[in-house]
Amino acid sequence: MRCPYCGNDDTQVKDSRPTEDSGAIRRRRICNACGGRFTTFERVQLRDLTVVKKSGRKVPFDREKLSRSVFTALRKRSVEPERVERMLSGIVRQLESLGDVEITSDQIGEYVMEGLKGLDDVAFVRFASVYKNFSAADDFRSFLTELAHNDDRNMQVDDD
Ligand SMILES: [Zn+2]
Repeated sequence: MRCPYCGNDDTQVKDSRPTEDSGAIRRRRICNACGGRFTTFERVQLRDLTVVKKSGRKVPFDREKLSRSVFTALRKRSVEPERVERMLSGIVRQLESLGDVEITSDQIGEYVMEGLKGLDDVAFVRFASVYKNFSAADDFRSFLTELAHNDDRNMQVDDD
């Protein structure tokens, strides 16, 4: 599993255990290159969904990829990985229940923004800025400045 911080492939599992609902295996991993710690979840995938990109290109839905972009938005934010996983599972369930094997990247983006809004303001803005491609850069900057006041308080290192 590639390290989300430095991109190194050489990471090690420190601890594996089932999640509360036994729906997944939670693994604590450590990167042998940078010492970064992160968590991965292994779970059953029920349906194969296809994502239709803006360009019209179709790619298989990849929960890991979705997870990576969400965790990138949450970088250095103190949000419990389990809460993030629950949000991701909720998104996947919603996607699966749309009743169509093909989903658009827009739909996924909307669900992610909805989920992040309830989880962490800063991560929401980070994700939205990439996803929505904020055109009004100044509005975006003042929005960030506003959020930065809460940022220091919430900024914590993962030191367990
Ligand atoms: Zn690393």
